[in-house]
Amino acid sequence: MTREAAVKWCLDRSLIFVDFFNGSIIYVRPNGQIAQTEVQSVTRDDALLREAVSKLGSINQLRQAQEEAGELIAAINQYSRGRIGPSVLAEEIADMEIMIEQARVIVGDAAVDEHKKFKLQRLRAMVEGGVGFDGVQGA
Ligand SMILES: [Mg+2]
Repeated sequence: MTREAAVKWCLDRSLIFVDFFNGSIIYVRPNGQIAQTEVQSVTRDDALLREAVSKLGSINQLRQAQEEAGELIAAINQYSRGRIGPSVLAEEIADMEIMIEQARVIVGDAAVDEHKKFKLQRLRAMVEGGVGFDGVQGA
């Protein structure tokens, strides 16, 4: 769910939107009480992703992924400096995830999952094995 969808969720229920992060919407009830609700996770819409890549083009969508990656890098930098809150960072993460999902359509889920499986195994070994992160060769 995007920030805009969270705002719409509140407007549809005559609630005042306060913030959105970590999958929760924080809002004000008509009685003035501040409340929080969990948001249902968003399921991947493969048909939409395939149509987007087909209509907009693989190279265009990969370039859009580059742009979103740049925006996420900037947002992480700003978040780490305390200049933006978690909801702004969440919006950029959502943008990146949508572009990653389209990139998966372009190169194929199986190819990505093969690499992901290996890299998650390596991460598990680092976390459980007590291997120092500094000594691990990246990528
Ligand atoms: Mg963005």
